[in-house]
Amino acid sequence: MKHLSQEEILELKTLLVKWKTELLEDFKEVVDEPLSYEGGDEIDRADAEAGRIVRLKNLDKHRKLLKKIDYSLQKIDYGTYGICEICQAPIPFERLKARPVANLCIECKEEQEENE
Ligand SMILES: [Zn+2]
Repeated sequence: MKHLSQEEILELKTLLVKWKTELLEDFKEVVDEPLSYEGGDEIDRADAEAGRIVRLKNLDKHRKLLKKIDYSLQKIDYGTYGICEICQAPIPFERLKARPVANLCIECKEEQEENE
């Protein structure tokens, strides 16, 4: 990741750590939330259940994102961060700043999306 300066790497690392902290806070909120089933009728219960499913789905997204963040932080430590995993091209700082967990350059990313 020679194309990134120490300051830039530090800035991206700060972004990743901050993002991770926010996600972990969200986790705590959902887990701490009391279940409001008591006293409700069937419909309330169904609503509560549906809401819970939505939150759990979000948690799943969170979890995947957290993995990506951890992975990116690891790559910073290993010195492989900011390099496209397919073509090894350096990923521009601006792109990383917009999406710190990006592991592909724009060209490879677009190609991947087309093939999906
Ligand atoms: Zn690439």
